[in-house]
Amino acid sequence: MKFSLVKMVQEQVEKAAECIGVPEHIREILKCPMRILKVSFPVRMDDGSVVCFNGMRCQYNNVLGPTKGGVRYFPEVSEDEVIALASWMTWKCALVDLPYGGAKGGVICDPTKLSEGELERLTRRFTTEIMPILGPHSDIPAPDVFTTSKTMAWMMDTYSMFKGYPEPAIVTGKPEVMGGSLGRKQATGRGVAITTRELYKKRGKSLKDVTIAVQGFGNVGTYAALFLEQMGAKIVAVSDAFCALIDHKGLPVDELMEFVEKHTNLKEYKKLKHSDRDDVLYQDVDILIPAALENQIRKDNVGEIKAKVISEGANGPTTPEADKVLEGKGVTVIPDILANAGGVIVSHLEWVQALSGLYWEEEEINQRLEKRLVRAFEKVWKKAREKSVSLRSAAYIVAIERIADVYQYRGLFP
Ligand code: NAD
Repeated sequence: MKFSLVKMVQEQVEKAAECIGVPEHIREILKCPMRILKVSFPVRMDDGSVVCFNGMRCQYNNVLGPTKGGVRYFPEVSEDEVIALASWMTWKCALVDLPYGGAKGGVICDPTKLSEGELERLTRRFTTEIMPILGPHSDIPAPDVFTTSKTMAWMMDTYSMFKGYPEPAIVTGKPEVMGGSLGRKQATGRGVAITTRELYKKRGKSLKDVTIAVQGFGNVGTYAALFLEQMGAKIVAVSDAFCALIDHKGLPVDELMEFVEKHTNLKEYKKLKHSDRDDVLYQDVDILIPAALENQIRKDNVGEIKAKVISEGANGPTTPEADKVLEGKGVTVIPDILANAGGVIVSHLEWVQALSGLYWEEEEINQRLEKRLVRAFEKVWKKAREKSVSLRSAAYIVAIERIADVYQYRGLFP
């Protein structure tokens, strides 16, 4: 039977809701996605043929505000995955006190096989198809796996053309030249580094010479590696969808980032021996950062994990079964909804800037990000102590308490 991500997130939510006695009717609401729009649409390919693509957008819950979440282009996009990711966005936004609900979208495609023109036409048509539920006060997309600031520029332009006026607040993660926030590109990786540093601080330790392996050398993984290296840590292993590079003396993060920027992957990097891509997970390191995809640390491979801390850059990289094993082994997991919340925090700042027309310096953005994330980390840390639960359960408890409180005030319509 195929592993269900929705089931996984529901288990995480149920566990937390039970721990704090959330009323039954609110638990019922939290189990179900509010809205899913599934679309099929034709795109003209460069050779003149027409291909039909399937995509979807899920808005999981909007009790706290307009829904927010990325759009993913990937061959394995599924309804289960999109609902689970939209659900995680809901808890993440609640946890870091943003006025947002959660959403996610995806198109089933292999973007590595599409030309720039094909990607543009696909993006514009997908945007048009889901436009009835988009809006700066209803649902605001952002980049995710295999979508970039360029994708967001096409989405913004398409939406604006239909409306008849420019609407920069319709997406976040735009190019800086058209109102993308300074610091957005680095924000998720910066957040992973900040939350990891906070954990070490709580233990009275610094990150000096701490060894780190990073799975997924994309937007999140590269910047997490860069900022952690700047904090004194040593990055000894990185991987992407094709291979892993491992050197326990330390990898040249700057150089690898430049390489990936130019060549898009690590496949052509010849200065180091290539290892199997999954070897990165099993290195004898202090910290493992899964920053690729969900479902990477599972019952079948958790026994091989040697890291003592896992900082989840990706959404849903650890299954609940693996989580239990890690807890039993005394491994500390900084959960995804906390560790990778830096991205949506700065996306919120981008949205505020677009709505107000007032743009901030990068220093201001980074300070606001740091303040919000450290505050959330403190809340989670305190809750974990108070309830004697893992950081993951504590993060869900903090998030669900906020949502349940808002439901109590708003009541039920009609
Ligand atoms: P990305 O497309 O920039 O990078 C993904 C990286 O993972 C690429 O290097 C890809 O080659 C690699 N990869 C894919 N499959 C792999 C595998 N099996 N093993 C090793 N590497 C693999 O995407 P991203 O934006 O960095 O997102 C990565 C994860 O972080 C996703 O789970 C995403 O949902 C999550 N996330 C992203 C953001 C953001 O702001 N970009 C925010 C929060 C969470």
